[in-house]
Amino acid sequence: MTDQTEAYISAEHRLGAHNYDPIDVILHRGEGIWLWDVEGNKYLDCLSAYSAVNQGHCHPEILKAMIAQARELTLTSRAFRNDQLAPFYEEIAELTGSHKVLPMNSGAEAVESAVKAVRKWGYEVKGVPHGEAEIIVCEENFHGRTIAIVGFSTDPDARGGFGPFAPGFKVVPFGDIAAFEAAISPRTVGFLVEPIQGEAGVIIPPDGYFRRVREICSAENIILVLDEIQTGLGRTGKLFAEAHEGIEADVTLVGKALSGGYYPISAVLSNSEVLGVLRPGQHGSTFGGNPLACAVARAALRVLVEEGMIENSALQGAYFLEQLKAIRANAIKEVRGRGLMLAVELHPEAGGARRYCDALKERGILAKDTHNHTIRISPPLVITRDDVDWALERFSDVLTAAGS
Ligand SMILES: *Cc1c(COP(=O)(O)O)cnc(C)c1O
Repeated sequence: MTDQTEAYISAEHRLGAHNYDPIDVILHRGEGIWLWDVEGNKYLDCLSAYSAVNQGHCHPEILKAMIAQARELTLTSRAFRNDQLAPFYEEIAELTGSHKVLPMNSGAEAVESAVKAVRKWGYEVKGVPHGEAEIIVCEENFHGRTIAIVGFSTDPDARGGFGPFAPGFKVVPFGDIAAFEAAISPRTVGFLVEPIQGEAGVIIPPDGYFRRVREICSAENIILVLDEIQTGLGRTGKLFAEAHEGIEADVTLVGKALSGGYYPISAVLSNSEVLGVLRPGQHGSTFGGNPLACAVARAALRVLVEEGMIENSALQGAYFLEQLKAIRANAIKEVRGRGLMLAVELHPEAGGARRYCDALKERGILAKDTHNHTIRISPPLVITRDDVDWALERFSDVLTAAGS
């Protein structure tokens, strides 16, 4: 580690809140799947900023749109209209088959917005007595970091010490239909769930789970809210992960890659009456739907489709998964994934995923451990077969050497 790198780390340590424990690499530049640190070392990015840079770092078309819009107009607030919002609505609605769009900034804000809209729908449309709406969520969920959201987290780190929390949430095991059905009451207004639990370690529910969930929600008049902030926009090899089960959510949450990593942009997409319950003055955001965000999102969606990134995610993801499964190493408990949302779970005796991530970094791969024993692998969707092979060699070396 050079003096320069140490100086950055010590300044961060001295001045910053210690709410992260990052890998000690000071990144300076990015292009496509590659990142460079201040020492000039090059890395293949296998995190993609938690899937916010699906389109690859500093995508030139998104950059062009961002610069062009930044020269014209960046923020008006929603007190006035701007000429980027309507085209953004039209393009995202057309691409996703949605009828209504609510633009926000962060993922957590999209989740909060959906919770508000679904509760209001529950009172005004479903007829649940005021103040009694219940939303069902899943154990091991990750939906963001605001107070309402961490209040229904089951991760002691995420919620510990932050109460009191908002009531109105019921927690059930993920992937368990019987538990979901048992939790339903006449006051249930929504089911908020990730199609694949990302932060929990890329947990894929049993086949057919979401088809049943969809049937039950329709039968019981419950709004199915799929949090596709991480799984969406091509990450799993389809535009949305819901397509793997051939279902459609009532409300879909997107964020992260909606800007290709340029800007915090999120949205609530709805194909039902849910967003219709919000009237002027009842919800908003100063930056939500600003012209710069809209222009960036339009470009980010366009390149995702025009450059075949979703198909590439399916193709390279299937190959990556198959080849990871072929690695013979004592440390590996399970390899799983869908599209380019992949994970290698290690046996507890392997000594934790973090040291494997540190070893990968020494060989030019940046990956992040999650839940102690899982290495998550989610490169930008522009990765080529040659780059996957390059990465596989290094994964194989690290998993076989350090683990046994
Ligand atoms: C990242 C993430 C969020 C929160 O997004 P932020 O932009 O960090 O607030 C919510 N849900 C899921 C599934 C996520 O992966």
